[in-house]
Amino acid sequence: MNLAVVGGGVIGLTCALRAADEGWRVTVFDAGASSRASDVAAGMLGSLGEGIPGEEAQLELSAASVRAWPSLLDRLGDPDIVAARDSLFVGFTAADMKYLHQLARFVWSADVAVASRLSEVSATQVRASEPMLSGRSQGGYLARGEMAVDNRRLLRGLRDALADIGAEFVDEPVTDLADVRADQTLLAAGLDSSKLWPGVQIYEAKGEIIRLRRNRWSVAPPRHVIRGRIDNRNVYLVPRIDGVVVGATQYEPLEPDNRIPQVGGVADLLVDACEIMPGLRTYDLAEVGAGLRPMTADGLPVIERVDERVIAAVGHGRNGILLAPYTADRVAELLTA
Ligand SMILES: Cc1cc2nc3c(=O)[nH]c(=O)nc-3n(C[C@H](O)[C@H](O)[C@H](O)COP(=O)(O)OP(=O)(O)OC[C@H]3O[C@@H](n4cnc5c(N)ncnc54)[C@H](O)[C@@H]3O)c2cc1C
Repeated sequence: MNLAVVGGGVIGLTCALRAADEGWRVTVFDAGASSRASDVAAGMLGSLGEGIPGEEAQLELSAASVRAWPSLLDRLGDPDIVAARDSLFVGFTAADMKYLHQLARFVWSADVAVASRLSEVSATQVRASEPMLSGRSQGGYLARGEMAVDNRRLLRGLRDALADIGAEFVDEPVTDLADVRADQTLLAAGLDSSKLWPGVQIYEAKGEIIRLRRNRWSVAPPRHVIRGRIDNRNVYLVPRIDGVVVGATQYEPLEPDNRIPQVGGVADLLVDACEIMPGLRTYDLAEVGAGLRPMTADGLPVIERVDERVIAAVGHGRNGILLAPYTADRVAELLTA
């Protein structure tokens, strides 16, 4: 049986690999990197850190995907895809700590197994585990097993694994799903999916993100993902072998398809990141970027059969990297149902 996958982002590629492993002959159609959110992302697998009160269903979904990650990593066989094993949530003022306590209470009250991985840590414990963080920290929470991956290395690994198993790549956009010749078609075109399937509404949530590179005068990157809450703003530091990813803003853009980073967002991120970890001032500013998260109205991805030939896996919002293996499992079920 042939499967055409429309979209070569993290969702399309992960689903493609899972299907190829189950015997499907896979062809991936892709419109290129310029509109691909998966390249821009920070790569946090942030189930607990994304635990926003009121988003019980998202937390449950995230927890399910956390369980699916080890087998994807085993399949890819590249340990350097993992950028961090644990996360540290750190607050700097009384109001910041209150925000973190609320998040923890929400996570602990939810009926998800991963909640037990979250434990409170004192300011002294924060300093002991990440000595390069500012002494202003008032403490926070350790999220054991809340990992991060190098998203670009992940995408390369997925493409290589697909090529090794005989999948084909067509670097061209699909303009009409009816033109695709395959037994089954998976629509995974991120933000552009609603152009091909008007039955789904996808909204943009823009985000600036910055990549800093370590040089020979720099202190080492943190070992944990650092999710900072500082002066009522969120900023995260995600380690890489050669630096740190600093992210991310989130807002509805004034005009569609605008991926140009705005000065205000970038300035806030840099100020907050250097406040949290002053040693970042010596890093090289390697890349300033912005991407558009493919959001749905209820914040949940749409993974469903559209008709007898088409399945959709779209609208993964701010957690598409995290949700990729869970989505691949659901799509595999739909393909065999
Ligand atoms: C600043 C920022 C930070 C983020 N950080 C994280 C994070 O830390 N953790 C996390 O889990 N998520 C994060 N995300 C969210 C994550 O990036 C997205 O949810 C995820 O990348 C969506 O993947 P996707 O494959 O659905 O879409 P995309 O990655 O956008 O891929 C869609 C692909 O479809 C292709 N395409 C489009 N139209 C067509 C067509 N007509 N024909 C063929 N191909 C087509 C595009 O070229 C593209 O390659 C972040 C997002 C942003 C913007």
